[in-house]
Amino acid sequence: MVKNFLNLTQEECQREYDKLIFDYENFKSKNLKLDMSRGKPETRQLDLSLKMLDEVNSRSDFKTLGGIDLRNYGICDGLPEMKKFISSVTGVDEKYFIVGGNSSLSMMFDAISFFMIHGSREQKPWCKQEKIKFLCPAPGYDRHFSICEYFGIEMITVKMNKDGPDMDFVEDITKNDSSVKGIWCVPKYSNPQGIVYSDEVVKRFANLKPKAKDFKIFWDNAYFMHDLSSETETLTDILEECKKNRNEEMPIVFYSTSKITFPGAGVAFLACRGENLENLRKMYSIKTVGFDKINQIRHLKFLKNKSNLYNHMQKHREILKPKFELVLKLLESEFKDNPILKWNSPKGGYFISVDTCSGCAKETVRLCSEAGVILTKAGSTFPYGKDPYDTNIRLAPTYPNIKDLGLAVKLFCLCTKLAFLKKKLGLCN
Ligand code: PLP
Repeated sequence: MVKNFLNLTQEECQREYDKLIFDYENFKSKNLKLDMSRGKPETRQLDLSLKMLDEVNSRSDFKTLGGIDLRNYGICDGLPEMKKFISSVTGVDEKYFIVGGNSSLSMMFDAISFFMIHGSREQKPWCKQEKIKFLCPAPGYDRHFSICEYFGIEMITVKMNKDGPDMDFVEDITKNDSSVKGIWCVPKYSNPQGIVYSDEVVKRFANLKPKAKDFKIFWDNAYFMHDLSSETETLTDILEECKKNRNEEMPIVFYSTSKITFPGAGVAFLACRGENLENLRKMYSIKTVGFDKINQIRHLKFLKNKSNLYNHMQKHREILKPKFELVLKLLESEFKDNPILKWNSPKGGYFISVDTCSGCAKETVRLCSEAGVILTKAGSTFPYGKDPYDTNIRLAPTYPNIKDLGLAVKLFCLCTKLAFLKKKLGLCN
């Protein structure tokens, strides 16, 4: 029978600890070497797109509908056909897109560096303003936070609710503090919690009345196609809603095919309106003579159209779903009646976010690492790597094979218990 550790006496804790440390030493002797730290597709997922590399190999493949030779310079903001494709998938009008290179993260970086250097809406460049702050819903994506740190942008943590960021807080702070210039959002299957922003949350975003005229919403829709069930969650169109509320200069939306085809060799997209679109288009026309159009046409020929893309994503799902189910099943069996760990059950995305009891996350991750399983660093889901209560851990079940994943999660469960008992027994440093 599963014991509820919250009800144990000190003596019972010690007994449990002595038992579990024995199992832990056993795990250690297996010399595991598993990496569950990043949300990477596994080999079989990468193989799904292998045929894409054969798609363009004769001279006629490189001609666009407009008769342009794609092997040459030009068409800086993306093939018109590629814009049509992404428009048909996302519902965003093709005229608002810029098709970029291999990484949406680098487009986010580019946009921030543009506002840093040039500013927008007749405001001073951000680097010339006294202080710049960004709102960071957390747990969130560590690389967003790293971009802020890189540019010296102060980060303010925003609590995540079940349907998106705490909008009372967002409305209040943006209304009153002109140094708050932006917010990071992963609106669908958020990294790491898998949360989908509700219609109400999106509408409240679109209706913000920020004191800073140059306030921007970085809407990173990285997991827009990444459902774990056959039914997709709907997300309200932020660009359209902002337009209705005369806030069209606020949002910049990002997508990529990194986890559709090949991470690092996919195609990234950005969509925005008005001055943002004009400015970023101009910036890219100076930054490059054209992104990799051969990769764009390869993707187009391979992904073809919306329904083909859905079929392709279904194949990803068939690989990923059993892994998520396994992790959730193990967590359920270990912690349903021993509530020292809480977790989410995402309907899409790449992660399962868990919360240990206060002050146990770092020790759990350390114990796992000492026994050969690397997890995402505790704290990294919060700005500055500092989780105020040391509770959140991001589990990334996608990369290991299912056998390794099972072992890794069993070890994780054991380490969660050990970390809790160590804390109760005063054995932590
Ligand atoms: N945004 C989020 C929320 C992510 O989780 C990731 C990758 O894990 C990225 C962006 C990276 O996207 P890209 O490969 O297009 O740079």
